[in-house]
Amino acid sequence: MSDKNSKKFFVDPTVLRLGKWLRYLGFDTSFVRSEKEIGADGVFLTKKRIRTNGSKMIQFVPFDRIEDQLVWFKEHFGPEIDLEKVGSRCIRCNEPLVEIPKESARDRVPDYIYQTHTVFRICPSCKRIYWRGSHTDRMQAYLERIGIFMGEGP
Ligand SMILES: [Zn+2]
Repeated sequence: MSDKNSKKFFVDPTVLRLGKWLRYLGFDTSFVRSEKEIGADGVFLTKKRIRTNGSKMIQFVPFDRIEDQLVWFKEHFGPEIDLEKVGSRCIRCNEPLVEIPKESARDRVPDYIYQTHTVFRICPSCKRIYWRGSHTDRMQAYLERIGIFMGEGP
């Protein structure tokens, strides 16, 4: 069994945008205010200069631009990325999406989307409906451009 994507991340407000990308990549990612709120089993990401005492649990993100942050993330956690998990989590709620029968999406998505897609998933928390392309195509193209996928298509 693969343990990819099993790592949990905590991000503080200095790397909020990176946190949303981690959710998009499928990682369990919690938004917290400081390292005091992290659980025992997660990695805390921040741009704040805090004392780490050499702890691997706290990782300083040494970049401001999201592009650079993502490349940094790939260099540190690239092997943890499971391409099959990309787009599997609600970016707003951090909830894993649940596949629903196509029929139950009929009245909840634009008609042309319904006609041209077969797989629909819902966030159990905010009830938002996702379909392939609803948030994935543009983000995926971006990740490919900066090399997150290392040349492999999902
Ligand atoms: Zn949601």
